[in-house]
This record gives sequence, C-alpha cells and structure tokens, in this order.
Amino acid sequence: MYTGHLAAGLLIKSYAPKVKCWPILLGVGWLDILDGLFIVLGANLVTPDLKSGPYLFFDLTFIDWDHSLLMAAFWSAAWGALFWRNRMTAVLAGLASFSHFLLDWPMHNFDLALFPHSSEHIGYGLWGKWGTWSWVAEGLFDVLLLVIARRNFAARRVSLTWPLVVMTVAFFNLSPWLSPMKHVATLPEPATHILHGILVTSGFLLPGLLLSWLVDRAQSTSAASNPTA
Ligand SMILES: [Zn+2]
Repeated sequence: MYTGHLAAGLLIKSYAPKVKCWPILLGVGWLDILDGLFIVLGANLVTPDLKSGPYLFFDLTFIDWDHSLLMAAFWSAAWGALFWRNRMTAVLAGLASFSHFLLDWPMHNFDLALFPHSSEHIGYGLWGKWGTWSWVAEGLFDVLLLVIARRNFAARRVSLTWPLVVMTVAFFNLSPWLSPMKHVATLPEPATHILHGILVTSGFLLPGLLLSWLVDRAQSTSAASNPTA
C-alpha cells in the first residue's frame, strides 16, 4: 500500500488538531523509510518481478528487519518514544507507524514475516491476486478516508485542498502506468536495488514532509482568519 498510508495519516491528524502533523505523517511511512534504507544497505532483499503487482514491479524477497510483525511493533514503539515529552503525540505517532503494518497486510504478497527470519509469512496478497484492481481498490480506500478527514478539517474551517492535490498526484504517480519502479526493475544490479531503496524512502519522506507543511499552513491560515474558532 502507498497512498493509503498517507490517507490514514491525514485521517488520524484530522482527529487530533493539537498534535503536531509531522510525527503522524512521517509515522505512517516510517516502516518504509527504514525499508528503503535497509534495501540500499543490503540488509533487505528485493527482486525485480514485473508480474508482482500493480505498481511495485519487485518481489519483496526479504524485508523482515522493518516489515515483520515483531519489528513493526518495535520500530513503531521507537518512533512513538521519540515524542515522549508529549504523551498524546507519542501515542498517535506510534499508532500511525503501526497502522502501516496493518494496512500493508491486505496488499502484500505473503512477504510479511512474524519476526526476522521466521518461516511463517502473512499478507492477503491483493497486489498479486487483483493486479490493477488492487490499485483501484486502494484509490477507493483513500477516497473513503479522505472524505472523513476533509469533513473533520472543514468543521474547524481548515481547507484540505492542497493536501488533496498532493494525494491525487501521488496516487497517479504510483499507478500501473506511471510508476518509476517499472523502469527501475529493468536496470542491472546494483542500480536496481539501490534506486528501489531510494525511491521507497523518498516516496514517503518527501510527501510526508510536504503534506505536514501544507496541513500546518492551512491550520495557521484558518486560525488567523478565525481568531475565535
Ligand atoms: Zn510498507
């Protein structure tokens, strides 16, 4: 899952106006930010496979150091702990991070281990089973979450227009036709895994920071024009 994680972040943030945006919006991508780094460093292993699903074009052969159940719980707790000075931020940041594992489960092709090097793997495999339709399903899931988030923000007179523009661009950018991974999967090693890792990390780092900035800006614009709200 890709944009579904960011949509989940905006939904969580919509219920928590007083909590800072970036711990949540980087939190939802934290496991993949790590994943990309571990792929570049060679601790994780990805294998080009143009039939693997709608937009990734890689098999996630070994991603246990960030995307196993045990490590997802560990890294989520670690991410939340960074914000220990504010209990609500810490809880929501940790929750945002663990939501990544829960939302990956329906999509991933049986590559989510229970713990590093466990032979037991989970994932419902919609990427492989539904192909392009799994990308469509993710889009519908995004719409559902974003309609609720937009309503919550609108109740506080905060406009979600620009974040929704970014979400739309991100959704079509990682589509079966435009995904940069399709080209990356055809490159020789080591370029293929290094570029894959860089794209995964930056694919969550940059939109997470951009969305945080846009939401913060929309909140302060709203506060300035409605000082009593
Ligand atoms: Zn993931």
